[in-house]
Amino acid sequence: MDRRDFMGSVMAGMAVSQVGKAALSSLPNTAEPLKGARWIRNGLITAGGLHEPFIFVLRRGGESLDARRVHDWNQSETLIRRLKNQGVEVFHTHFYKGFGMAAEMPEMLETKRAAEIAHRYGMKVDTYLQWNTMMYETFFAEEPHAKDWIQRDVSGLPILLTYGYQQSFRYRPCFSNQEYLAYLKKLVRFAVEEVKTDFIHFDNFDLNPEPDSCHSPSCVNGFRNYLKSKYTPEKLRQRFGFENVDHINPPQWNRDNPPEKMAIIFDPAIQEWIDFRCQVMADALRQMAEYAKSLNPEVAIEINPHGITGGNRAWMNAIDHSRLLTSTDAYVTEEENFAEYFPEDGRLVSKIRSYKLARAYDNVLMTQSPSEVATAEKLAFNQTIGTAGSAPLPAWMLDYIAFYRDHRDLFVGTRDLATVGVLRSYPSIAYHNARAQLSAILVEQALIQSRIPFHLIFDGPLPNLSNLKVLVLPDSECLSDDQIAKIRRFVEDGGGLIATGQAGLYDEWRRLRVEPGLNGLADGQQSASAYEEEVGALEISSGLPIRKLVGKGRVVYFPGIPFDGPLPKMEPYFTIDNRFWKRPANWEELIGEIQWAANAEMPVKVSGPEFLVANVVWQPEKQRGMLHLVNYNAKTTPSISSIDVVCRLPEGTTAKTVNLHGLEHIAAIDLPFTTQPRAVSFTVPEMKTYALLAIGW
Ligand SMILES: [Zn+2]
Repeated sequence: MDRRDFMGSVMAGMAVSQVGKAALSSLPNTAEPLKGARWIRNGLITAGGLHEPFIFVLRRGGESLDARRVHDWNQSETLIRRLKNQGVEVFHTHFYKGFGMAAEMPEMLETKRAAEIAHRYGMKVDTYLQWNTMMYETFFAEEPHAKDWIQRDVSGLPILLTYGYQQSFRYRPCFSNQEYLAYLKKLVRFAVEEVKTDFIHFDNFDLNPEPDSCHSPSCVNGFRNYLKSKYTPEKLRQRFGFENVDHINPPQWNRDNPPEKMAIIFDPAIQEWIDFRCQVMADALRQMAEYAKSLNPEVAIEINPHGITGGNRAWMNAIDHSRLLTSTDAYVTEEENFAEYFPEDGRLVSKIRSYKLARAYDNVLMTQSPSEVATAEKLAFNQTIGTAGSAPLPAWMLDYIAFYRDHRDLFVGTRDLATVGVLRSYPSIAYHNARAQLSAILVEQALIQSRIPFHLIFDGPLPNLSNLKVLVLPDSECLSDDQIAKIRRFVEDGGGLIATGQAGLYDEWRRLRVEPGLNGLADGQQSASAYEEEVGALEISSGLPIRKLVGKGRVVYFPGIPFDGPLPKMEPYFTIDNRFWKRPANWEELIGEIQWAANAEMPVKVSGPEFLVANVVWQPEKQRGMLHLVNYNAKTTPSISSIDVVCRLPEGTTAKTVNLHGLEHIAAIDLPFTTQPRAVSFTVPEMKTYALLAIGW
């Protein structure tokens, strides 16, 4: 079978989700993926139950005078039974908040009792286990050594969680400190062995942005040792100009040079400090996940690091998802990018990026969906409900739960199908978020609003690209020699490449290349700057794209992906939040060139307005594919009619059935369809918020 043919792409769709994992093994200190809990493969619906213990409700203050009654209700048999009857499968409840085991033991035992009830009703139990809080007032009384376990800033003051600084009793523990991790393991053991939890939710999984990073001896010495183990003496000389790193400190800041104003990160020690902070979190998580699974391999591990929000997550919060999600079964995002289209400025806000990230690592995304559209987005991109919310669940959520449970076999075990990959380059985004993140967001936005399925690709190193038809490098400035060689081979073998702006002009340390990295592939790139004392405002070229044939492949270089309209004012840390989330000014050209570079049909073509979004998944062993459609503008355009669809099929097959499912239909509707060579076309007569098309062959 021809590698570039369509079935190849079908397999590619599956392969890419998995390569994401395999690829990570050569990142520094990155481990192979942990084996996940099997039960979660069948999808899940969780709801609670509050996740705050009563001791915290009191210490936080401002509670209602009936707080104890509300608290007891949230672990009562009546509530658990009600959730069970509503289709909820996993009961979410509190377990540990950070006061210390002695202070929380009475409530931990209450949780054990509630877990027994939930298990008796055939439900699974999801327990909240605070990752990142030490309530010192009780904790120090229990464990006097814990004074050495906390994060301390450059002046030695404890680093706090950031809840408007009301909660200054919440210290952050240091994750380089093995004694704290040993304590955390005692809690994990209690949760797994005593409570018999099925699912551990580690909350507050991140670190504070600079200047609030940990300068405790564990971190300072840990950083120096990390550099020594990561690099040979010769590499250290290349990196810093010297090889003795025994006196290197974490970065320090001053009033005139606050970290949030740094547009480009040149300083190699700061770059390495970002890497170290990300790795400390990844290593601590791996220890905890391995420990939990050694006690019970069926315990699912979940963290709350948030998703792809447009922020520079590595730099700000020590989050490199690709190092974390190999240790987890699920992750949480509390980003407030709730699915909605804004007709007044053309923005389409979604969590599609965060869902694609989850799927790339076989994780489930757990997130609130406070509207019907946001819940439809879950079914389309998460392929399960995940978090349903807290009791009482709204009526429409109950409808979606019922729909999902009735159609579960169309969701379980599916793989995303796409032939376009968008690189989210770690060093490009970590060292220059304003440019690389903005370009990635705009390219993704054009694909989302044109209903072209795509994968997110994470580097370190690149996965096997031969399964893609097009790779997009959105201002992926920092590419290693290895990555460039792989990309070149991919094109010569017949792949399509879209490079934009400054793609490939720097190496992975953001050192300016003398010869552009994509020399011979991308023509007409403007020269870029090496070190700059003052980084000016972001300028994006609106020049015309340049096509080129290279080997068997096709390359298009876009000088820039310009924002449509005046660029919103950059926020501190240059976060590309959802004020930027709309199609770029040249989106039509961009989509046209992606199609040209692919040199093949896209898996699906769907007509419709810019607020109609599509996702395609496959179950080849069941000989069917599913097309999910979501109307992001359901608020002002409650229904869309006459949607024309052309769906590619595997070679040698013909369509047998096309069924339309939706919450407004009691039973599936058989749609008439026309068979084309290796494709099927049909028209969806009408849909409201969500439609699911199952195509059997
Ligand atoms: Zn530390």
